[in-house]
Amino acid sequence: MTDFRQIENNLKKEAKRLLEAGEVAVVLAYGRGYDEKHPMPFAAKAIAHVESLVFNEYCNFNMARYLMRYPWGTKIAIAAKAADSRAIIQLVQEEKVRREDLVIMGIPAYGMKNQKTNEVIDSKTTGGLYNPVIYDILLGEEIHGQKIISPYEVLAEYEAMDKEERWAFWKKEFDKCIRCYACRKACPMCYCDPCFIDQNKPRWADKAPQSPGNMMYHLTRFHHLAGRCIDCGECSRACPVDIPLYLFHKKVAKECEEMFGQAAGMKLEDKPALVDFRVEDSDKILE
Ligand code: SF4
Ligand code: SF4
Repeated sequence: MTDFRQIENNLKKEAKRLLEAGEVAVVLAYGRGYDEKHPMPFAAKAIAHVESLVFNEYCNFNMARYLMRYPWGTKIAIAAKAADSRAIIQLVQEEKVRREDLVIMGIPAYGMKNQKTNEVIDSKTTGGLYNPVIYDILLGEEIHGQKIISPYEVLAEYEAMDKEERWAFWKKEFDKCIRCYACRKACPMCYCDPCFIDQNKPRWADKAPQSPGNMMYHLTRFHHLAGRCIDCGECSRACPVDIPLYLFHKKVAKECEEMFGQAAGMKLEDKPALVDFRVEDSDKILE
């Protein structure tokens, strides 16, 4: 089991050291919320802030979401669990952040929990990885020997549906959407400014929370994330009406991996699958 207390202590120690030495201007990690179950994204900019840092099984937020708030050249330390580290790699590949500006404080974590349901989230909504893919400092011991579950196992029921059933499934789910955009806000890969759905000239879709505007928003967002979603599951957990967005993202990620032999955010030297071309690439994407 992850020693959350040890990680929290190491997080505070390293944050203090980096801020004191002037190696970073800000530490992006988790701060105390109104109770233990509700930690918050937190930016520590001074040594006095370090005591507010926490880490426990509810620290799910993908802190890579906040990297783009800082201009290039700002030295940033960032707490990164497995999926968060994949988001960092993906953002570096997309030239939204620079690797040299970052001190990645890797967090091996097992047994993370959904704040709303208390269920363990490791394999259902996330990529099923426990150790960060990339880091400069490790805040706990690497996790080995835990059962690795395919991130795509959860798709079995969905994949058993035919096209009509899938359409009916998503139509029913999207009819619940209240267009709060929490999914977009939580997602480290949703950084377009302005987002297509906020534009008025041209106006791409109806802004009212009803079909077919909901369908347009979600299908466009799904396509924008094809080959880029790093399976952190934050969009699904942020959704107040529990739309299982992860099913669609995982399905697309699985197909991308099958077609291009690459999962998003796994290697710094990769190029995003849909902006790269190899002669041997599958043509299945055109079908
Ligand atoms: S689409 Fe969802 S699971 Fe994928 S990166 Fe964004 S928040 Fe994470
Ligand atoms: S978080 Fe849920 S309700 Fe809000 S816009 Fe996204 S899918 Fe719709």
